[in-house]
Amino acid sequence: MKFYVDYFGCRTNQAEMQEWIVDLETSGYQLTHDSTEAGFGILNTCSVTERAEKDIFKFLNKVFVNSNTPWIIVGCTVSKEKNKLQERYKNYFFFDNTEKLHLVDFIKEKFPVEEDNIIYHSSYKSRIFLKIHDGCNFRCSYCIVPFLRGKARSLPAAEIIHKARYFGSLGYKEIVLTGVNLSSYGYDLFPRENLLNLVKQLCKIRSIDFIRLSTLDPRYLRYEFVKELSYTRKIAGSFHFSFQSGSNSVLQRMKRGSKVFEYHKILELFRDFFPGANLGTDLLIGFPGETDREFQETLEFFRDSSLNYAHVFPFSPREGTRAALMEQAPVNIVQKRVKELKEINRGKKIEYRERFLDKTLEGILTEEDPNYSLVVTTNYLSVRVPPVMGYKKKKVKVRIKRVVNENMCEGIIVKKR
Ligand code: SF4
Repeated sequence: MKFYVDYFGCRTNQAEMQEWIVDLETSGYQLTHDSTEAGFGILNTCSVTERAEKDIFKFLNKVFVNSNTPWIIVGCTVSKEKNKLQERYKNYFFFDNTEKLHLVDFIKEKFPVEEDNIIYHSSYKSRIFLKIHDGCNFRCSYCIVPFLRGKARSLPAAEIIHKARYFGSLGYKEIVLTGVNLSSYGYDLFPRENLLNLVKQLCKIRSIDFIRLSTLDPRYLRYEFVKELSYTRKIAGSFHFSFQSGSNSVLQRMKRGSKVFEYHKILELFRDFFPGANLGTDLLIGFPGETDREFQETLEFFRDSSLNYAHVFPFSPREGTRAALMEQAPVNIVQKRVKELKEINRGKKIEYRERFLDKTLEGILTEEDPNYSLVVTTNYLSVRVPPVMGYKKKKVKVRIKRVVNENMCEGIIVKKR
């Protein structure tokens, strides 16, 4: 039985999707990239912003009209709008964030395979995203996630190591640890576990070359963590923080529980222990009540800091959050501010890539194509190289020859493994 997948939203959604694919493939189901030949489709959804939710309904309207393939709809939009979805898409199946634990069992019952002793391995992606944490106990005033994904919960380390070993045996060389609040990993477990110990244990898995961390919450970042992390041989040199703003008064209204001087200390720490690392942050612009002065504080914080990039998001109110009840900033002002920050961001990204001209970096070959191949380096640069075949997912060394734009470099492979 062939199946098709798609997902919207965060890395945690991507990680969930990758795991369902591996579970189904090891049970005799075959992934197809052509939805017309699929016996069923799986869609992992996102409702973090109004725009994200609109995209889900747009996608479903299209597939509902154009094909008879039964779809299984999963995740945050189901947790938020199940009734509406069930009314509109009658013969589809819906699993919210609690029910999704039973997704694979449901599929095996509803869409049984004749020969379940066949194992397919499509290598959907070349780097594997591994979800180790879900839910959140914080209540940032703009965020709907805790209401959709529930309380914080971590996967026991033994289970994570078992999964990582298995992914290593499938040929994956890079694992990206993801979660709704990765930094709080293990705090809910008894006995308590933590992210640093987990990384150290994962480093012992010989088949895995790189371990990358997804977004880090500044409230958990301490000297010991950064120092010890730098001693682990396989940690990838890119770190992304959820700073959100460079203005203390905005951070206070966001209920982030952090101050800008703490961000400077964190950046100093990472610069000390990871000098060449690619450091980035999320920045939420146009938060209710954001004044020109507050925006300027964020702009100067980002511009003058050692950050190398930012994901800049315009604020969008989410029903059910405190921030949605606050007076909203005019859309045109928000758009102008986002544009200004994105311009600075573009300059920073190019400047960071130019530092590696004629330097050799390690990475994973993620795409093979007759025209070119693509490498993602340990410090998270995308590098286009002349076409090579048979090295997908493999570790390579690449020399940077040219910065094409803020998102792409060109280079040559100097070593394959
Ligand atoms: S830490 Fe804040 S922004 Fe992040 S998921 Fe939790 S409530 Fe949302």
